[in-house]
Amino acid sequence: MININLIYRIHIPPLLFLLVGMTNFSHLSSQGRSSERTVLLVQLLDAGNFQVLYKENQEQRFYPGSLLKPFAAWYLLTQVKGFSPEQKIICRGWGGKIPGVKKACWIKNGHGPMNLWDALAHSCNFYFYTHLQSVSTPDYFQSISREWGFPSDLQSDFPDAKIGDRMKHKITALQILTPYLKYYQHLQSHHLRDSQQLIMSLQGKNGTIAGLQKKWNKPSSPKLLLAKTGTSQDVRGAMNGTVIVFFRLQNSEKVYALLLHQPGNTGTTLITEQVPELVKSLFGKKDTNE
Ligand SMILES: [Zn+2]
Repeated sequence: MININLIYRIHIPPLLFLLVGMTNFSHLSSQGRSSERTVLLVQLLDAGNFQVLYKENQEQRFYPGSLLKPFAAWYLLTQVKGFSPEQKIICRGWGGKIPGVKKACWIKNGHGPMNLWDALAHSCNFYFYTHLQSVSTPDYFQSISREWGFPSDLQSDFPDAKIGDRMKHKITALQILTPYLKYYQHLQSHHLRDSQQLIMSLQGKNGTIAGLQKKWNKPSSPKLLLAKTGTSQDVRGAMNGTVIVFFRLQNSEKVYALLLHQPGNTGTTLITEQVPELVKSLFGKKDTNE
């Protein structure tokens, strides 16, 4: 049974929230609960507010990994003089060279030629490493913190910190989801430079979220609005996946954002295999027929 009663504002770090009347989301259920995973489901409301509908292990902390890339894209587009999103660079996968990084990209044979939009859709590490290596580390972290509300003390000198790994601190589900809610809102109102291209890159026609697009292809399926996967590696080499998915149910204008983090999985596996089941169990079969 879930009684949810918090409404948060998207804009303000640290998070301020208003307490409002009780809302009963008894149609949600928590089947399939796992002690390790973190789940956070929110509904977007007007005027930059959102309401938490469901949560599991919300206090758990993790590295967001590539979930940081849309913010890196924003930084490149708006803060780096002369940056051209269309210009392609060639990802050679493990064979690429980035100082201080073991594997220049996560895919062995590389992604091939990538512009910014491809690199976001395919989550190409090499592309972001290449463009971010000459960027001032303090300015990068200060900018994304100030603009998007990330914690202000994430800076570390590891090159992969700029794409969400080995930052100074791990963060909570709410600390990564909140900037996403603001980002989504700005994309919808076309407040960001190249909003349309960013939306297309994060809509999963190809790349790491195409697996979910394929599963949600029926008229009765939820409509995928925006998604991003992230995978970070812990010191023992295990993969920890995190995904954020914005979606609507059929015949509804309500927009939901779901974060799922699960140790032992990659973000791509989570979004393809776990997210459809999780949404079904949260909302009940009648709304999410397959
Ligand atoms: Zn790559």
